[in-house]
Amino acid sequence: MANKIRVATTSLAGCFGCHMSFLDIDERMLQLAEAVEFDRSPITDIEHCTNCDIGLIEGGVCNSENVHVLREFRKNCKTLVAVGACAINGGLPAMRNFIPLEECLTEAYLDGIGVENPQIPSDPELPLLLDKVRPIHEIVKIDYFLPGCPPSADVFWKFLTDLLEGREPSLPYELVHYD
Ligand code: SF4
Repeated sequence: MANKIRVATTSLAGCFGCHMSFLDIDERMLQLAEAVEFDRSPITDIEHCTNCDIGLIEGGVCNSENVHVLREFRKNCKTLVAVGACAINGGLPAMRNFIPLEECLTEAYLDGIGVENPQIPSDPELPLLLDKVRPIHEIVKIDYFLPGCPPSADVFWKFLTDLLEGREPSLPYELVHYD
């Protein structure tokens, strides 16, 4: 069998909705599986991204671990794709950029209704939050952007089949939306 295209996927500051939409390609996943092998992804048990042809990134960058994972993907993926509004411009999570980080933490962990034993988590194992939620193109170079919150299954399908068949990916107007 010819070498399969290797695809890695991850969710940074995302909600997994983009991954769910990807899975909405439904039975076309069987067709995809003939041409594609999955590397690191929430749908595999692989912990680190190795050499890949395509990396699909859902979510913006909100903490130090996101930065680390994003850089690992950039290093290992020939083509890196920003998937969905959060990866493209920070998305709804970037609404926190209008509130100082300290105020967000105080509200969530100290003053929030129903909070017991209030304290801001400080275990060194926890990644530190960045001052702002960032789109991924502010951290690494991105090759393609798939708009939508989430992009539809047909967007994933059109984009991936274009790449797999050696065409420059392009989305028809009716598939392009930002909501
Ligand atoms: S773009 Fe929308 S669906 Fe995708 S991770 Fe962000 S909030 Fe979720």
